[in-house]
Amino acid sequence: MKRRAVIGIDLGGTNCRGALVGDDGQLWFQRSIKTEIDAGFDSFWSRLLCFCRALIDDGIRQGYELGGLGLGFPGIVAKEGFVHVSPNLSPLNGFALADRLASHLQLPVRVVNDANAIALGEARWGAGRDFSSFVMVTLGTGVGGGLIINRQIWSGADGAAGELGHITVEPAGRLCGCGGYGCLEQYASGPALIRTCLEQWDHFNQKGSQPLIKPRTAEDVSVAAFNGHPAALGAFKSAGRYLGQVLAGIANLLNLEGAVIGGGVSANLDLIRPSLCEEIDKRAFDVSARRMKVVPAILGDRAGILGAAGAFREISAGV
Ligand SMILES: [Zn+2]
Repeated sequence: MKRRAVIGIDLGGTNCRGALVGDDGQLWFQRSIKTEIDAGFDSFWSRLLCFCRALIDDGIRQGYELGGLGLGFPGIVAKEGFVHVSPNLSPLNGFALADRLASHLQLPVRVVNDANAIALGEARWGAGRDFSSFVMVTLGTGVGGGLIINRQIWSGADGAAGELGHITVEPAGRLCGCGGYGCLEQYASGPALIRTCLEQWDHFNQKGSQPLIKPRTAEDVSVAAFNGHPAALGAFKSAGRYLGQVLAGIANLLNLEGAVIGGGVSANLDLIRPSLCEEIDKRAFDVSARRMKVVPAILGDRAGILGAAGAFREISAGV
């Protein structure tokens, strides 16, 4: 009997990665290309098709039965795979991505939001396996989110649900890339950590504490924090506090079992967790606060590929 697999693709603003995903969550034949959307839509589209065909050929050559292709996309995607809007891949705005891929590749295709794909990956094979309901938070260049309710993704009426990075935490706060002010993303993402840290950096250095080099990356901020620099420690504490406020609101609204924290910044979850949990305890009802377990994601950058493949299976099953 032929082994079965689905192609999972994680399409990001910088890189496009893909693999064959077995029913057991194993990845085979991983490939990646640069997204390079700046080269224009036509160039991007032909390279994406070549990339997909290469993965299909990998599968056929090795005797796999390919069920279809799932793709995680950085933007708001309707259930039928139509791209409403994508800040990073704007040439694809208004593009029927799933239909066009399916007709070129002669394979069933499903397209989901990338943060939702990560949530599905963690739900099926990662840190969310033991939760029937949880919120996935990715803290990276931006702040992404996904909602799993009764083990299924809740993507909303138009595919726009889960955008917790754009929940307002400071009504007159920092300007966000979405055009709003004071979004969580501006207080808990990697760039936000650097900004918060730098705002306090000179103040603490003038007081004669460790004369470290000013941080330029989120990694620098974590190194400074581990060296005990108060500005860096304060930046993590602040990020945790804002995220905790949002999670407390979500706990009160949905009484979820868990919050899974992923993305680059989550490598320092221990620096964020105290203030985060303090806010949940302080602001959510006791029953909901006790129920919501805050845990780190475990799949790393495999979650997007796994989840895209998982999304194909879930949507194809008619869920
Ligand atoms: Zn925003």
